[in-house]
Amino acid sequence: MTKLFVQSKMLCEAGFPLHGFAVSGDYRFDGPAPQNEVVAQYRALRAALDTQWPLLRLQQVHGDGVVDAETALAALGQDDGWTSRPSLEGDALLSTGAEAVLGVLTADCLPILVACTDTGHVAAIHAGWRGLAAGVVRRTIRQLAAAGSAIDAMRCAIGPGICYHCYEVGDDLADKFPESVDPIGKNTGAWLLDLPNAAEVSLIGAGLSTVQIERLDICTVCAPEGLHSHRRDGDKSGRQLSFIAAR
Ligand SMILES: [Zn+2]
Repeated sequence: MTKLFVQSKMLCEAGFPLHGFAVSGDYRFDGPAPQNEVVAQYRALRAALDTQWPLLRLQQVHGDGVVDAETALAALGQDDGWTSRPSLEGDALLSTGAEAVLGVLTADCLPILVACTDTGHVAAIHAGWRGLAAGVVRRTIRQLAAAGSAIDAMRCAIGPGICYHCYEVGDDLADKFPESVDPIGKNTGAWLLDLPNAAEVSLIGAGLSTVQIERLDICTVCAPEGLHSHRRDGDKSGRQLSFIAAR
């Protein structure tokens, strides 16, 4: 049977078994996959997780909006969220103990899952270069801290996304992430951007240290199969789901 998702060793050891990064299937409703297949994918995941909790997702806009789980639950109403389209916009979900699974969809952008070992609070972040440049990571960490979690009690897993070798960018992006790029050749205006490193720099800028961060180092572009890549497949690409729940 195809593996549905992979987990972070660090988050498992921290006591957050309900989390994962999908490595097969398509979770995108407005993409090329037939609607019934996407619904079946969500149902298969829910069955595998054996949870009665609703799934919270957002209309992701590559920004820095952080939405708390209570607000997202209120927007769902009676719906369980597993097979419907989200109404709220934002790029990070934060839970201070709500009985809900937080989900983000990605294809090349990074899913970042955060777990607070002291409070049990969690967050799920969608972070591509736009979100990182907008400060979505720092903003999420600040809100978790404001809700009572100590920064040094946080653990973060950076999931599947585009790798350094696959991410050629121009001067415009290189200027935004000077600590995470290397030039290709000499003065060509072409660079390789290490997006997971840029995410790590954001987390460290928010006060975390490298020992609190795990990189899964799975590339969505050059990984053998199963993962979706916007860079490789364009607008026809599907999406993988990453998820986490508070304890
Ligand atoms: Zn790659």
